Order: sequence, then structure tokens, then C-alpha cells
Amino acid sequence: MFSGQLLPFFDPRKFADQGLEMKGQTSVGELPRLADFRGAENESVDVALQFGRNEDGKPSVEGTVSAHLTMPCQRCLEPVTYQVTASVNLVMVWTEKQMKALPEHQEGYMVTADEKMPLSHLLEEELLLAAPLVAMHEQCPNPLVKEQASAADDVVKADNPFAVLAKLKSQQE
Ligand SMILES: [Zn+2]
Repeated sequence: MFSGQLLPFFDPRKFADQGLEMKGQTSVGELPRLADFRGAENESVDVALQFGRNEDGKPSVEGTVSAHLTMPCQRCLEPVTYQVTASVNLVMVWTEKQMKALPEHQEGYMVTADEKMPLSHLLEEELLLAAPLVAMHEQCPNPLVKEQASAADDVVKADNPFAVLAKLKSQQE
């Protein structure tokens, strides 16, 4: 069992055979495909994965990957942060054929490198799948629409010829 700092790679067959547990933390900044989800702070990514063999004897990995992901709110464009937790339940496969042969309820994970499979790929993929499709504050802290509307009001007031006239009149009196 590994704790604390995560290993950057995993060996799918060996880890499955040994029933290894991988527990630790990395950060969103360490995962290049999550660059768009990085907040002001380099949020941590918590990883708890258990390698083993599933009921069919296939090499598998299960557990959770969780992180705070930040993305722009669709309404006000200010960042909104989500606690994203991905439940991992994957059967590791080496070929397309193995992938297609999996029963419907099993999700395959294609292993592209023996011994040194980058852990970051798995973490990125699982977090991206679990991330919300549309990000939005429940209540926008600083609604952009409102601000634009009041700014537009000011412009109208300034350009209103009657307002200018009234001002001139009051100056003459
Ligand atoms: Zn918002």
C-alpha cells in the first residue's frame, strides 16, 4: 500500500495480481488535461484505488478519485467550484477485442503500456467524466446581467435630450 505521494505510474497486471491499494494525493495542476479546471489555488486530488481481480478474474481497479474543479459559470462567467467525485470501477483490457467482449455492466479501461501506465491519464479521464457538463452558481455572487443593465440605464439618461434640456433650463433660471 502506498500512502501520501502517489506513484506516477502503475503496472496493471502486477498491481492486480498483488491486490495493491493506491492511496494519496496529487493536485489538479499535475493533471494537464484538467488545465481548464484549475482554480486560483492548486486544489488537491484525492485518490483511493484498489487493484485486484473482479468476479470473472479480470484485472480491475476500483475506488474513488475526488477533486475540486473550477470552471466559469455559464451565467456570470465568474469561477464556480465543484466538488467532483468519480467512482472508479474499471476492468483493464489490452485489446479492442477484449474491450468489446466485456459484459454491458462492465466498463473497460484500455491499457496502452505494460508496467508503466501513467496514473494521470486514468485520473484525468475519470474526473472529466464526472465533471458537470454545465457549470452554474446556484446564486451568482455578482450577476453580470444586472450590472450591464444598470450601466445601460446610465447611458440612456446621459443621452436623453430632454434631460440635457432640463439641465440647460435649470442653469438659465
Ligand atoms: Zn454565476
